[in-house]
Amino acid sequence: MQQNLLDFDAHALAAYFTEMGEKPFRARQLMRWIYREGESDFAAMTDIAAALRDKLAQGACIATPEIVREELSDDGTRKWLLNVGTGNAVETVYIPEETRGTLCVSSQAGCALDCAFCSTGKQGFNRNLGVAEIIGQLWWANHRLGKNADGNWPISNVVMMGMGEPLLNFDNTVSALRLMLDDHAYGLSRRRVTVSTSGIVPAMDRLREECPVALAVSLHAPNDKLRDQLVPINQKYPLKELLAACQRYLERAPRDFITFEYVMLDGVNDTVQHAHELVRLVCDVPCKFNLIPFNPFPQSHYRRSRPDAIQHFRDVLMSADIVTTTRKTRGDDIAAACGQLAGQVQDKTKRTLQRSMGVA
Ligand code: SAH
Ligand code: SF4
Repeated sequence: MQQNLLDFDAHALAAYFTEMGEKPFRARQLMRWIYREGESDFAAMTDIAAALRDKLAQGACIATPEIVREELSDDGTRKWLLNVGTGNAVETVYIPEETRGTLCVSSQAGCALDCAFCSTGKQGFNRNLGVAEIIGQLWWANHRLGKNADGNWPISNVVMMGMGEPLLNFDNTVSALRLMLDDHAYGLSRRRVTVSTSGIVPAMDRLREECPVALAVSLHAPNDKLRDQLVPINQKYPLKELLAACQRYLERAPRDFITFEYVMLDGVNDTVQHAHELVRLVCDVPCKFNLIPFNPFPQSHYRRSRPDAIQHFRDVLMSADIVTTTRKTRGDDIAAACGQLAGQVQDKTKRTLQRSMGVA
């Protein structure tokens, strides 16, 4: 079988070249072709010796997941459905803004964590995406959009906020992050690459050591009782441990604050009392809040908070000097907004079946 070179970060690609008897700098040359130029045909890589190009073409390939569907929202948001084989498909979303272009990247086919309000979670879990399937989302999206007039790729920011829990696919996510940051690949700033996690405490510590990038933590509740229900992984890593991990993360983070994401669910977690409790909870963690109005999906029984409830909630946080933004809903006409990504997942956990039988 051919080796997909998108599965290698810089270190692994250099090792592959060394094994072939080639100099490691050739690996960097190749990376520039693949990522900076967006080239997938070895024959076009003119400054690489023809003999090496032939050798690569025989044993290796540059392959992204196949695109099965592209949708364009009225607001310019684009969503691609990527076939990752064996009946599974994941989604990638491009969100253009005036000063930046953000790609929302998936890390798993489905998600095992089953947060109460999340469409991906409701699908169950099939498998982790490989490095090529993660970095391939960025490669494909840049390729499809084409370079800007200034010669740069349109994607300046990446958020690991698509389908799945990135920190439960740690190694592949980190290899893909390294390619995003590598100067011979996409060369994005650490501050412009964000991992969003539901709070996998040991993996947050590893990320801080191995590849510190901006961190967003899905908080969603001001106390353990409510968070246990909304984000079940809280039963394993409760708030006290999670917030301590956030503080440790900040020692090496590229930004001096954690972004807390907070989905606004009508009558569930959105009262002024909840906001005051939240202020007390996070008082020791330098942070910003991003309030996400709940995005409904088929089978969801929650409702989005009313705009005045969101405003009051925000006022409480702001008067405690916590910078708080409300996430603009983008792409909801094509089900590309936060939490609406469903793709197509062959649930290996049989969760849907268990649920219908009343055992989960
Ligand atoms: N698994 C990671 C990243 C993917 S989800 C995490 O949980 O952080 C990206 C963000 O969207 C998370 O904050 C998640 O809680 C939120 N989200 C999930 N479902 C949502 C929904 N239906 N409406 C609004 N936000 C949602
Ligand atoms: Fe998984 Fe994140 Fe959805 Fe929770 S919110 S089920 S962790 S993708």
